[in-house]
Amino acid sequence: MTSFQGKTILVLGGSRGIGAAIVRRFASDGARVIFTYAGSRDAAEALARETGSTAVQTDSADRAAVIARVRDSGPLDVLVVNSGFAIFGDALEQDPDAIDRLFRVNVHAPYHASVEAARSMPEGGRIIVIGSVNGDRMPLPGMASYALSKSALQGLARGLARDLGPRGITINVVQPGPIDTDANPADGPMKDLMHSFMAIKRHGRPEEVAGIVAWLAGPEAGFVTGAMHTIDGAFGA
Ligand code: NDP
Repeated sequence: MTSFQGKTILVLGGSRGIGAAIVRRFASDGARVIFTYAGSRDAAEALARETGSTAVQTDSADRAAVIARVRDSGPLDVLVVNSGFAIFGDALEQDPDAIDRLFRVNVHAPYHASVEAARSMPEGGRIIVIGSVNGDRMPLPGMASYALSKSALQGLARGLARDLGPRGITINVVQPGPIDTDANPADGPMKDLMHSFMAIKRHGRPEEVAGIVAWLAGPEAGFVTGAMHTIDGAFGA
């Protein structure tokens, strides 16, 4: 297990689910962890108490707030952009304002947060964005906006890797398949359909995603950048 003692790590969207597992992992590995949340104040404060980390309310849909949060938390050794959500349903029926908000959280925030973090990030810095296997494979109707948002992160990583590589800073996308969280519970109505696409027929655990994030943030992954890291029980295979 890598020690992150002395490292400053910001997790955007850390109060629940995969983000909370990432907060727990880095905090237990010795890092100074700051994480954001949108609405779940109680969960965020409980996690902060549990882990000794710092919770701050910052809506990832608000570009200025995201940039200020990253700037004020830095210089960051590691930035993790985890905040994200899906809107399900017929694309022809969906509220365009809601879809634009999804793009602000899922696409604009990762871009602006990554660029802002890079301004002061030291050599060896790490940027990790939580995408989705749906960036590669979207086998169901009603999720085009989500698939678009997650595939956009692939371009972000490929492009920014070129800008930041000369400074020894890496940027990678972790692409989970179905993971057991409030957003996608393991006993939800879609579980059998999702498992039918998979070789390992279960939901993943948030801690399993946190493990690959920690590896990407550590010294062994210094040559890994501009890449997608899928953890999905072969959902996308
Ligand atoms: P959850 O809904 O369980 O948790 C989402 C987290 O992100 C919460 O901490 C939430 O904060 C935060 N968040 C959401 N919107 C905002 C916002 N506007 N500003 C700040 N924080 C926000 O989701 P998951 O843990 O399941 O998903 C985390 C990431 O993983 C997402 O990007 C998702 O797309 C991706 N993913 C998830 C998969 C899954 O099966 N679970 C599969 C593939 C990808 P708050 O508690 O305040 O609402």
